[in-house]
Amino acid sequence: MKVLVVNCGSSSVKYSLFDMQTEAKIAWGIVECIGLEESFYKRQTITVPQVKSACKVANHFEAIQMIITDLLDSKTGSIKDIKDIAVVGHRVVHGGYKFSKPVLVSEQVKKDLKECYSIAPLHTPHHYAGIEAIEKMLPGIPSVLVFDTAFHQTMPDYAYRYAIPSEYYGQDHVRKYGMHGTSHKYVAQIAAKMLNKDKNEVNLVTCHLGNGSSVTAIKNGKVIDTSMGFTPLAGLVMGTRCGDIDPAVIVHILSKYPKMTSDELNNLLNKQSGVAAVSGIKGGDMREVEDAMLKGDKKAELAFNMLCYSAKKFLCAYYGILNGVDGIVFTAGIGENSPLTREKVCEGLDNLGIKIDKSLNEPRSSKERFISTDDSKVKVMVIPTNEELMITKESIDVLNEKK
Ligand code: ADP
Repeated sequence: MKVLVVNCGSSSVKYSLFDMQTEAKIAWGIVECIGLEESFYKRQTITVPQVKSACKVANHFEAIQMIITDLLDSKTGSIKDIKDIAVVGHRVVHGGYKFSKPVLVSEQVKKDLKECYSIAPLHTPHHYAGIEAIEKMLPGIPSVLVFDTAFHQTMPDYAYRYAIPSEYYGQDHVRKYGMHGTSHKYVAQIAAKMLNKDKNEVNLVTCHLGNGSSVTAIKNGKVIDTSMGFTPLAGLVMGTRCGDIDPAVIVHILSKYPKMTSDELNNLLNKQSGVAAVSGIKGGDMREVEDAMLKGDKKAELAFNMLCYSAKKFLCAYYGILNGVDGIVFTAGIGENSPLTREKVCEGLDNLGIKIDKSLNEPRSSKERFISTDDSKVKVMVIPTNEELMITKESIDVLNEKK
C-alpha cells in the first residue's frame, strides 16, 4: 500500500510517497517558486539521486500535474498506476473551528474548509487548490485532510479562551488553536514507547523548536495546553516571529505609525522580528546565530538567550500544571540538532528533577535517544519528528474507519 503526502504552501508543493509495508519514504520532492518567472523542481527516489530542474509552473494544479506525471514515469517513477496510491494525505495548517480531527475529503468538507479561509488566509486557499488538483489528477483516490491544529483540540476552555469580550469567540472564533500538532503527536507516541508507557497514560512536555517553535503540555497522552495561539505568532521567540508580547505594544506602534497597514504590521511581527531582529542575522537561522555567538557576537548571544529563556518558561509552566512529567522531548531543526539550546533550556532545573548528561547531549545522531543523566527523575529525550509519516498513518486510520 502506498500513501502520498502533499503539503501545499503559498508558493511551493512538497510531496512524499510512502510504502506502508516498510513505512519507508520511497519518493519525495518539492516544486518551488510557483507563479514566479522561474520555478524549480527537485525530486528524488530511494533509487534515483536528487534531480533539480528549472521550469515554469503557473499554479498549484500545474505543480501537482508535474509531480504525478513524474511518479508515473515508466523509467524513473515509483508507481505504475494511480490505483497504487491508496490514499492522499494533505497537510493542512489550520483546521479553524470546523475540524478537530483528520477527515476524508467530501464536498461538505471542502465547503467547511472554505469557510475557514479567514482564519488562515495565507495557507488555506493553497491547501484547497492542492485538494482540487489531486482530485483532478487522481480521480477516485480518496484524500484525507490532516490538520496541524487537531491534536490540540483536547485543551480545556480555560486554556484556549482569551479573556476578551465573548462575541469575538462566539462570532469570530477567536481562541487558542495551537499548531505543530502532528509533530507533537508523533513525538509523544514515540516518547511513550521509549518510556515503556501506554500512549494514553504518558505525561510530557514536548518542545518543537524549529524556525517556528511551540511547546505543548500533554497529560495522559492528550494536549492540555500549548504555546501557540490563534495563529503561530504566539508563544516562544522564534526565527522571525516575535512570540508573546504585550498586545498594547501593537496598539502603541499603530498609533505612532498610523499609516502602517495590517499587512505591514503582520509582516513586521511574523517576518522581521524574533531571533532575526535581535541578532541582526537574516532569517534568524540558529546555526548562524550560534556560530556568531561563539565568536563573541553579543547581539547573537542575546537572541539565543531570549529564545532559550522563552522555551524554558513554557517548559517550567507546563511542568507545573502537569504536576511533574515522565519526560521532556526536544524535536525539530533546533531541538534535534542544537545541543547548546537543549543545555541552555534545561540549565538549572535540577531541583525539578531535570538533569542533562553532557556526554549524551553533545553527540550528533538522527536517532531518538535519551540525553538525561541516570539519576534524572525526568527523562529528557531527543526525538526526530516525522510529520509526514504521522500524516500517512492518520490518513490510513481515517480510511479504515470509513470501511
Ligand atoms: P521549520 O519550522 O521551517 O520546519 P526546521 O524544523 O527545519 O524549521 O528548523 C530550522 C531551524 O533549525 C533553523 O533555525 C536552523 O538553523 C536550525 N538548525 C538546523 N540544524 C542545526 C544545528 N546543527 N544547530 C543549530 N541549529 C540548527
